Amino acid sequence: MAKLNPNYDKLIAGYLFPEIKKRVQMFMESNPERKVHKLGIGDTTEPIPPTIIKGLRNGVEKLGSRDTYTGYGDELGDKRLRESISEFYWERRINIDIDEIFVSDGAKPDIGNIQSIFSIDSIIAVQDPTYPVYVDTNVITGRTGNYNQEKNGYEGIIYMQCNEENGFFSPPPKNHADIIYLCSPNNPTGNVATYAQLAEFINYALKHKSVIIFDAAYSEFIRDQNLPHSIYEIENAKKCAIEIHSFSKIAGFTGVRLGWTIVPKDLVLEDGIPGKANSLWKRRQTTFFNGASNIAQEGGISALTPEGRKKCKILADYYLENAKLIKHVLEAKGLKVYGGVNAPYLWVKGPKGIKSWDFFEKLLNECSVVVTPGVGFGPSGEGYVRFSAFGHREDIIEAVKSIQENLNV
Ligand code: PLP
Repeated sequence: MAKLNPNYDKLIAGYLFPEIKKRVQMFMESNPERKVHKLGIGDTTEPIPPTIIKGLRNGVEKLGSRDTYTGYGDELGDKRLRESISEFYWERRINIDIDEIFVSDGAKPDIGNIQSIFSIDSIIAVQDPTYPVYVDTNVITGRTGNYNQEKNGYEGIIYMQCNEENGFFSPPPKNHADIIYLCSPNNPTGNVATYAQLAEFINYALKHKSVIIFDAAYSEFIRDQNLPHSIYEIENAKKCAIEIHSFSKIAGFTGVRLGWTIVPKDLVLEDGIPGKANSLWKRRQTTFFNGASNIAQEGGISALTPEGRKKCKILADYYLENAKLIKHVLEAKGLKVYGGVNAPYLWVKGPKGIKSWDFFEKLLNECSVVVTPGVGFGPSGEGYVRFSAFGHREDIIEAVKSIQENLNV
């Protein structure tokens, strides 16, 4: 008899967004005259800049002619795109060889798939709160125990608490972890790790022979010159860190699908030799993956030209301006607001110690604004909600106005 993977039954997430949807639906049915403002989802809304559309179109056109048609491409990614990604890093004086770059169909698949090169008994550590994919993919793979209701977390996972006291970036864990997930700029807190904070993790990883999986999907929102965009800006990071990146938030490619992963040849794992992790990932990709879409890759090449980069910056600035408007109104209400300056997310503490779901209900009932309850991102998210700054400006302005007029703090 074919048996299903029992680890799927351990998952409790998948509960968060359906629950939000259910509550919003109920609210809309009881209040048909009210317009709901959705600031819950982290999806891009603004059109892809014309110069990048030209690249995508070029990719399509090439398929229509015998002279330029291409079928299967290099599983590791078009060489021209990998060269552009290498130059993207070189702007920060980071030397990444094109053999260390693996083009993908987005960061999320790579976050899940990268685990296949690690031993099943690896101990994992995540920031708490965290992007749920790091946790859920490990649950499905079988690296965790069951969900513990009291702890509001899975047995076997090290949760690194990120809270007001540590500025939403925890120091490395006291115990041993094999795989450490870090996300900066952070989803959901909007916090960006400093050079010193990342250096501490690199020292930990070198000492413990651990690996850091660094998710840099939001790096292009950083405006503060004193904050690192890539973990490889820190000395020795290539010995212990894998970086995962995406065109989703850089260029509005959430639907186009394109990303990349860096597996340095210097990376050394406990039982490995330099280059082994790189060659395992190459083996994994050439076995399970047939390369990213050639059309998407043409778009990616355009996005990384100087003109494309300029337009992408304007796109990120647009969302950051949205974040500024949201931050302003919430602070004027006397709320504590974190993030939203170098990231498209704002992490907002509920008034008078109310819980995440109660704050969610309050914003929905009083202001018709939908956010994401912080507790859905991990136990330390209790008491907070996440505002997303992705949205059309006119919708953000309406939401902000509603908060200003109706939120009773
Ligand atoms: N990493 C983080 C932290 C995210 O918030 C998201 C999407 O919201 C992703 C990765 C997914 O990126 P992609 O669209 O490239 O799969």
